[in-house]
Amino acid sequence: MDNLLEQIAPFQPTWHLGQQVMGLRKDEAAQTFIVETSKGTRITCKAIIIAAGAGAFGPKKPPLEDLEKYEDKCVFYYVKKRSDFKDKHLVIAGGGDSAVDWAVSLSEIAASVKVVHRRNKFRCAPDSEEKLRSLAQSGKVDLVIPYQLAALEGDDNGHLKAVHVETLEGEQRSLIADMLLPFYGLATSLGPLAKWGLALDRTTITINPTTGETSMPGVFAVGDVAGYDHKLKLILTGFSESAQAAHAAYKYVFPGQALHFEHSTTSGVQNLKK
Ligand SMILES: Cc1cc2nc3c(=O)[nH]c(=O)nc-3n(C[C@H](O)[C@H](O)[C@H](O)COP(=O)(O)OP(=O)(O)OC[C@H]3O[C@@H](n4cnc5c(N)ncnc54)[C@H](O)[C@@H]3O)c2cc1C
Repeated sequence: MDNLLEQIAPFQPTWHLGQQVMGLRKDEAAQTFIVETSKGTRITCKAIIIAAGAGAFGPKKPPLEDLEKYEDKCVFYYVKKRSDFKDKHLVIAGGGDSAVDWAVSLSEIAASVKVVHRRNKFRCAPDSEEKLRSLAQSGKVDLVIPYQLAALEGDDNGHLKAVHVETLEGEQRSLIADMLLPFYGLATSLGPLAKWGLALDRTTITINPTTGETSMPGVFAVGDVAGYDHKLKLILTGFSESAQAAHAAYKYVFPGQALHFEHSTTSGVQNLKK
């Protein structure tokens, strides 16, 4: 990162950090785009290169009624501070690394830990599973298998009292709970970019691989967010696509001007800036 910043410095870029790109409008008369961010910043430009990676990340949420009422009070998708869970009755849902690792860790300080999982097989490091099973045998963790989350019970202020679970056959159990930690992984989505009207292939923006241009002339995509046949999601690929896209975007930024291909090793950076 430091080396890249040093390499970029001669070009004096303007950074707009800590904000999400939201809207895109086209001013047909001026032949420009107007990009709007979550902080209300408006940027007028002649070409856009999207490098949004996997887009907006968010936790996969269980489909439970009134879930929002309990979120950040008694339902958490991340452990920010381990001590928040001290002496609490915890229900942890999921069967991956996060669910298993946190069940093992929080069992040391919580009043009780119940792990709800739909099958008797975990997708985690074998060592972590071994620890979990041994805690279950000694009664420090209760494995609630094969159950799935069914409903939440609590008061109007979002304080949880119980988590109701059931099997696929409809067998139900009620688990006393102060807090629920659903660990179902992260959902990747393009977020606001998905509404820009670009041709998409699930979570990637379809580009012409020789130019990086999307289905909207003047809008390019590079890196993990850009999709085409046989794409390799690597840093190296992203750099190469960025050079291609910058080259192809030139005609929108400097219409009618010829672009002479040069190498910085022979021409130097100053010459490239002209
Ligand atoms: C576990 C793992 C290991 C890897 N190891 C390697 C390796 O060894 N070698 C290698 O070459 N590659 C590796 N990769 C792949 C590499 O990390 C990616 O190819 C690379 O990071 C992609 O860069 P990017 O800039 O396209 O996206 P990202 O690095 O994902 O960056 C995208 C950025 O855009 C931001 N963003 C998204 N939407 C918006 C929006 N609307 N507004 C503003 N900002 C937004 C995101 O917050 C993020 O900061 C690995 C990947 C993983 C997951």
